[in-house]
Amino acid sequence: MADSELRDRFLNILHGKAVDKVPVLSVTQTGTVELMKKSGASWPEAHFNAEKMADLALSAHTLAGLEAVRYPFCLTVLSEALGCRVNPGRYDIQPSPGSSPFAKKPEELELPQDFAERGRIPLIADVTSILREKAGEEVPLIAGMEGPASLASRLLGTYNFLTWIIRKPETLRECLKVTGLICSEYTGILSEAGADAVCIVDGIAGPDMLDPRHFDALIKPKYERLCRSGKGMKLIHVCGNSTPILETLSECGFQGISIEEKVTDLRAAKKLVGKRTKLIGNISSSGVMLNGTCEEIKGEAQKCLLEGIDILAPGCGIAPKTPTKNIKALVEARDEYYHPNFASGARGPFRCAQED
Ligand SMILES: [Zn+2]
Repeated sequence: MADSELRDRFLNILHGKAVDKVPVLSVTQTGTVELMKKSGASWPEAHFNAEKMADLALSAHTLAGLEAVRYPFCLTVLSEALGCRVNPGRYDIQPSPGSSPFAKKPEELELPQDFAERGRIPLIADVTSILREKAGEEVPLIAGMEGPASLASRLLGTYNFLTWIIRKPETLRECLKVTGLICSEYTGILSEAGADAVCIVDGIAGPDMLDPRHFDALIKPKYERLCRSGKGMKLIHVCGNSTPILETLSECGFQGISIEEKVTDLRAAKKLVGKRTKLIGNISSSGVMLNGTCEEIKGEAQKCLLEGIDILAPGCGIAPKTPTKNIKALVEARDEYYHPNFASGARGPFRCAQED
């Protein structure tokens, strides 16, 4: 990439400073089958080998044009470090947690003394250093991780998590205190290793799964604490229609909130978060990004830009079978949006990248 401004632009927009153009990147997973073939780094190995993880993550920047490097490709690193068995998945399926180690002994959950040495935590710190070396100083590095609610639901079991909200609220509250602490500790490790931002993904805390009243009482304080830890940017991805909790989320201290296409009224969403945080998204990962033509992707992307998205991005993790040309179409859409012809109304027909 010739553009040496990528990291500054990313940090500036999250700090609320003026930028020349909206960045195009992904704060959610970026591993695709095409990029695996081209980079020589495939799942499942790329989840467990530092060099392979770095190579695949970097390829989404060098080969698909995204303006950040985002890693890892799964949401099992913290779960594994706390004792979850992990199913490694396969070339087109992400790893998943295979056990709930604290389901029967929630009172034993604590931040382990050797936390920084457990599981893949040292590996992710290594990947951060490798990527900084390979990508240089100008490319932002974004590390993904489970959020406090997702981590608790993995360690306790999803059924327990959801039913204990009513049946054992004190137990759940104590567990969330520990998982919140674990997430804050890990955030510190990642920013120390050189990550510019962490992005927590906390699917179970979204309004599709959790009543927003419970969110306020149980989850918000954990987010506030996490946002105060480490020195990098704090981002969050929420699946589904996050509109009912956007205002609360914007008060937690996150510099950016990644939203899905199910947030259909972007202008209203912008009003809810005000100047407190930036909105990232929200091109459908399972819809147009995966199955659409690049003209369709550009149409959606330019609609997002017109409605004021702050960082143009897929609405959720990129589906492994997404064609590289569809990712490139996002970047092209942004470039065309800033072309003088766009303002004069001469939109389309869009030119689309050939697959190379
Ligand atoms: Zn999502």
